[in-house]
Amino acid sequence: MKYKPYRDLLLEIFPNYLKVRKLPLNGGMSCPNLDGTKGFSGCSYCNNRSFSPVFDQAKVSIQEQLEKFVPKLRGKYPNAGILAYLQPYTNTHAPLEHLKGIIDPIIKHPEVAGLAIGTRPDCLQQEKVDYLAALNKKKPIIVEIGLQTANDLTLAGINRRHTLKEFEDAVARCQAAGLWVTTHVIVGLPGETMDDFKHTAQVVRDMHLAAVKIHPLHIVVGTAMAEDFGNGEIKLLTFDEYCDAVAEMIRIIGMDVAIERFSGESPSELLIAPDWCGERDKIIATVEKKL
Ligand code: SF4
Repeated sequence: MKYKPYRDLLLEIFPNYLKVRKLPLNGGMSCPNLDGTKGFSGCSYCNNRSFSPVFDQAKVSIQEQLEKFVPKLRGKYPNAGILAYLQPYTNTHAPLEHLKGIIDPIIKHPEVAGLAIGTRPDCLQQEKVDYLAALNKKKPIIVEIGLQTANDLTLAGINRRHTLKEFEDAVARCQAAGLWVTTHVIVGLPGETMDDFKHTAQVVRDMHLAAVKIHPLHIVVGTAMAEDFGNGEIKLLTFDEYCDAVAEMIRIIGMDVAIERFSGESPSELLIAPDWCGERDKIIATVEKKL
């Protein structure tokens, strides 16, 4: 079986470019699960430093980041479309006027072809969706709404502090506004089995998302899970179990939802386990063989 690679989706969204490259930017946002709006301790696996190369740019203005990083990327890929990517934390967690101050300059930048925004389902109030929908008429906007799992009990267990219902509501409103909507899921969360992975895949398929990023649960330093893992309370999937689960999920997801990736990426100095997590090529080869 084949799957739809993310580059095919990018060709649909950006028909004028043969190649599109993401440009990570830091909008200096926080997260409701960290700043006290909903909680202070965050999701139990979260260390933002581990999943954003621009973590250290929080205090640098968007204009400066664009000036610094756009020419670098352009130098490397002279003909690629540049997809700006607001990545760390929750990038719609701010009053609308503040968001406009971050997002408008990105959209106005002549070299930027479009914008991807990572966020949570509970930070997409309708006025923000309407604002993004208006921008989407100028340049494509992809809203990446984290789900992680479709199991509400697991969501509570990992301290996400949102439900599947909130995710479904946010996705439906973004899609109704014409935005491109993608999601992230984690395979191997504590207590989950193949039935949970399959259910999450069914939700991804049934919500007609444009793409999904699938990650193995990996333990990074500075997280609540690192402590539980150290105490022997968390059992991680083996390489084979993970690849089996991903292959099964892709079979369910089918060809309509692009697969953005299905490996994990954490800087090695932050990764505690599993040690196979960064073996991207081996994971891809194994999953493709199983498919
Ligand atoms: S994973 Fe995302 S939602 Fe959870 S605490 Fe970290 S930044 Fe916030």
